[in-house]
Amino acid sequence: MNLPIYLDYNATTPCDPRVVADMLPYFTEHCGNAASKDHSFGWMAGDAVESAREEVAQLVGASSRNIIFTSGATEAVNTALKGIATANVRKGNHIITAKTEHRSVLDSCAYLEENGCRVTYLDVGNDGIVSVESVENALTPDTFCIALMYANNETGVINPIQEIGAFAKEHGICFFCDATQAAGKIAVDVNRDNMDVVAFSAHKMYGPKGIGALYIREGAPGINISPLIHGGGHERGLRSGTLNVPGIVGFGKAASLCRQEMLRDSTRLQPLRDLMEEKFLNEIPGALVNGRKDRLPHVLNISFPDTDNEQLLLSLSKYLAMSRGSACSSNTQKPSHVLKAMGLTDEQAGHAIRISLGRFNTAEEVLFATDVIKKAVQKKRTAFAE
Ligand code: PMP
Repeated sequence: MNLPIYLDYNATTPCDPRVVADMLPYFTEHCGNAASKDHSFGWMAGDAVESAREEVAQLVGASSRNIIFTSGATEAVNTALKGIATANVRKGNHIITAKTEHRSVLDSCAYLEENGCRVTYLDVGNDGIVSVESVENALTPDTFCIALMYANNETGVINPIQEIGAFAKEHGICFFCDATQAAGKIAVDVNRDNMDVVAFSAHKMYGPKGIGALYIREGAPGINISPLIHGGGHERGLRSGTLNVPGIVGFGKAASLCRQEMLRDSTRLQPLRDLMEEKFLNEIPGALVNGRKDRLPHVLNISFPDTDNEQLLLSLSKYLAMSRGSACSSNTQKPSHVLKAMGLTDEQAGHAIRISLGRFNTAEEVLFATDVIKKAVQKKRTAFAE
């Protein structure tokens, strides 16, 4: 067993070696610019991009002409929210989102608030889930967008997306979904789930970092997204800049592998996650799972009372790589806004760790990690009691 064991797949996943193998020629011999129309290098790059676009689209049940490549989910989220708001200045100025969203959504909403939008940040229950009823109650005649995530990055909790999407559709409101943690892990389908605009990212599904996608439904209500980045008119004018061909090829391969293997991966990982959880709950008094009802199969967010999470992770860093929550807001050093929205106090949130398993974790690694964590918590708590 190689140490430390990586258990932070929600932060980012290792690139699958099959993805890397497909990408490599596009750094060297297939070096063309996908927008070069006058030679075979350009044609080859262009064809590779379109095949990848097809694979990425298929992963979420979309048509490839509705997929735009971006630099990641953060850019996709920014393009979506700012674009939808610009397109709707005459229709209304109200957005419904939730307190547990990723910072890319919350900070884009804060920016829009500074520019005249009104934003409702929905509360969640202590299960971390946004209720359809709370969305219905927040609706105003000025609401032009509902922006809610598919699955939460810190807890893995899954929102009732299909129902919320149906509600948005019924009221002619644009439904934007940040599906970054769900795409490639569980079945996501833009039509079944009634989603109008969807953001996701390659590096959460065993693809490379620095490439993401935005799905935009044609003819959906209030959708006329304007670009954040202007230039050569790439990606139907919505995202200018020379395409990251190796990244896109890798994203396509990663999406195709996830489509074929995600069920197998989750069927293998869920019992390992459950076993780990059961052992913690049974053997560490007071251990508490944060968000347990509807959840991604590979994620466990758990609090160990009287255990400082930062110290625990640091003391285990020789053996395990886990996290306190979102890597994207780790520089703020504040207690998790997600756990606080679920009703945890600052102190309780300071006891929580996130374990996110993935394709390359073995059963042996998970059992080892369970044992090491259990011992470290017990040791720290004994020290605390002394
Ligand atoms: N949304 C969610 C739910 C995420 O987990 C992340 C990544 N932590 C992002 C958006 C941002 O993705 P990217 O790193 O591709 O910009």
